[in-house]
Amino acid sequence: MRIVLISTPIGFLGSGKGGGVELTLNSLVSGLLSLGHSVEVIAPKNSKLYESNEKAILHFVEGEDQVSWQHQNYNSPASIPDNSLLAGMLEKGLDIAKKADILLNMSYDWLPIWMTLNVDIPIAHLISMGSESSVIFNLISKVYTKYPHNFAFHSKIQANDYPFIKEPTIIGNGFKLDNYIFQDSIKGPLGWVGRVAPEKGLEDAVYVANELEEKLNVWGVIEDENYASKIERSYPRGTIDWMGFLSTDELQKQLGKCRVLLNTPKWNEAYGNVIVEALACGVPVIAYKRGGPSEIIQHGKTGYLADPDDKETMLSYVEIIEKIKRKKCREWVEKNASTEIFANKVVNWLNKVINEYK
Ligand code: UDP
Repeated sequence: MRIVLISTPIGFLGSGKGGGVELTLNSLVSGLLSLGHSVEVIAPKNSKLYESNEKAILHFVEGEDQVSWQHQNYNSPASIPDNSLLAGMLEKGLDIAKKADILLNMSYDWLPIWMTLNVDIPIAHLISMGSESSVIFNLISKVYTKYPHNFAFHSKIQANDYPFIKEPTIIGNGFKLDNYIFQDSIKGPLGWVGRVAPEKGLEDAVYVANELEEKLNVWGVIEDENYASKIERSYPRGTIDWMGFLSTDELQKQLGKCRVLLNTPKWNEAYGNVIVEALACGVPVIAYKRGGPSEIIQHGKTGYLADPDDKETMLSYVEIIEKIKRKKCREWVEKNASTEIFANKVVNWLNKVINEYK
């Protein structure tokens, strides 16, 4: 298959601003290439793919980023800035896709979904968030009546945000296992990884660390400075150890030393890449039973699930974390979330989309 991928219009690939989509795109490219498909990626200037993805053709577009939907009001109108990066990526993508089999859009925005109804090229959408916008929700609903297969989701619980979709396509996610080294460090520190923004609930993990009189190692882009400093001010100095935003290789080396990853989503997390990355290193995860994490973590086997916002229960699970066998964590990823498994699911889905256009 010849597949054209449209990246996120928020930050270049490698900046961290695009969140989990950056890694998802790279994993998908790896998996598709290993299955023998040809891949072209349309992405913002300065984007980088994994070195092992050198066979994919990367096309750069310059322009203004979109504003992320999770930081707008649910009922906000869709807005397109002057010199729009998203519009530029679509223009280029549609042009290249004339000679391809399908365009796969990975940006969560209104314009690419609207295009679906207005061009003859098959456009598939990998939806990376729960419902964060009424205009997008309504548009998906409209497109779905004409093209019921064109949307795929990372988890069932994410897809539940779009209840009009009868049998949603759920594709999970994929991770390049060679990129993560198993570590058996049962005495390591507490870890937290993510964009530092309110929907990620960092404050609850800091609470747990503080109760245990420990430090919390925090990796990720600080997206909301005010939010970050407010949390920092609420706890004794040094409770948070800011580790910065690292490349996957550096991140996994450091993350693998943790005895547990705390994951504290305050929104319907579509999937939660960082959970699987921790598991791949052998690090068990304690998360709230909210969104994707509740489908990934096997309670009592690869970590623990606490009721949403129940910090006390999260704390009690940290105290028994050594009961989790780190090898089981890695095994789950090998069996369920490799790039090959992921790419196969995507290819099956894309074939269904292409068939709708025949
Ligand atoms: N990440 C990273 N380096 C860091 C911290 C985070 O590359 O130092 C990446 C991580 O690999 C993951 C992404 O940031 O792919 C966060 O994705 P997730 O699905 O957990 O949440 P999202 O940001 O999409 O809501």
